[in-house]
Amino acid sequence: MTEAMQAAMTATTAATTAAPAQAATDEPLLDVVRLNAGYAGMPVLRDVSLSIRAAEIVALVGANGAGKTTLLRALSRLIDAQGELRFGGRSLAGASADAVFSLGLVQVPEGRQLFDRMSVEDNLMMGAYRRRDGAAIGADLERVYAIFPRLGERRRQWAGSMSGGEQQMCAMGRALMARPRLVMIDEMSLGLAPVIVDLLCDTLLDIRRQGVTVLLVEQDVHAALAVADRGYVMETGRIVREGSARELADDPQVQRAYLGM
Ligand code: ATP
Repeated sequence: MTEAMQAAMTATTAATTAAPAQAATDEPLLDVVRLNAGYAGMPVLRDVSLSIRAAEIVALVGANGAGKTTLLRALSRLIDAQGELRFGGRSLAGASADAVFSLGLVQVPEGRQLFDRMSVEDNLMMGAYRRRDGAAIGADLERVYAIFPRLGERRRQWAGSMSGGEQQMCAMGRALMARPRLVMIDEMSLGLAPVIVDLLCDTLLDIRRQGVTVLLVEQDVHAALAVADRGYVMETGRIVREGSARELADDPQVQRAYLGM
């Protein structure tokens, strides 16, 4: 099982504890202070600090290799990291990946990581396989189909035979079946046509309306800043800019480096 698959699967443990709805508040849901992480002694993340409030949509953008996926792995506790990490008011120091997911910090991995030869619905149900609240699972499945009607239409189709956009919807729907408090979506737009990216961005607003906070890791900076409330720019393992999505979109350096202007 790949690390990303582990992330997707362990996410399901969120079901038993995570609350489906949360109100906007100034108290950060996720608070990261001076996080450092890397691979085999090679540093990648350098003093990364960020915070996300409940019900925000926050974009994390940056070039290839900037360290975005590494940050998500560190937040999910799939790799070791030094620094302060708090989620829902609790320190995650020493917490296992499983424990982090149990608290409702759920990742949609890059590349989607679906079970190709399973139906859409069975893939979605994998997101809830540890849940014991049967009636609520059925209701959540219908909620996912309401957000992504195409998944409902194709619920019996093999996931591997779906289009890239539909597969991304399925991966996002699977994460929602775990009842996350914060969903971290890695490269949502990868390989997708702009019209599909717009559609997926619209669904992020629906997901937020359901009370789920969103951290969107994107190389499509234009799309990410169009939907996000706030954003962070990462370069070579450091946060080099942060601000409202509007401020970042209007920043000449961001425009030159990431928006082709
Ligand atoms: P992309 O948008 O291309 O996915 P990214 O911003 O997500 O890039 P990361 O995947 O976090 O960047 O990679 C950051 C750095 O860490 C890169 O230099 C990469 O080569 C390195 N890296 C990533 N994964 C590993 C790994 N498993 N072992 C060693 N180095 C790694």
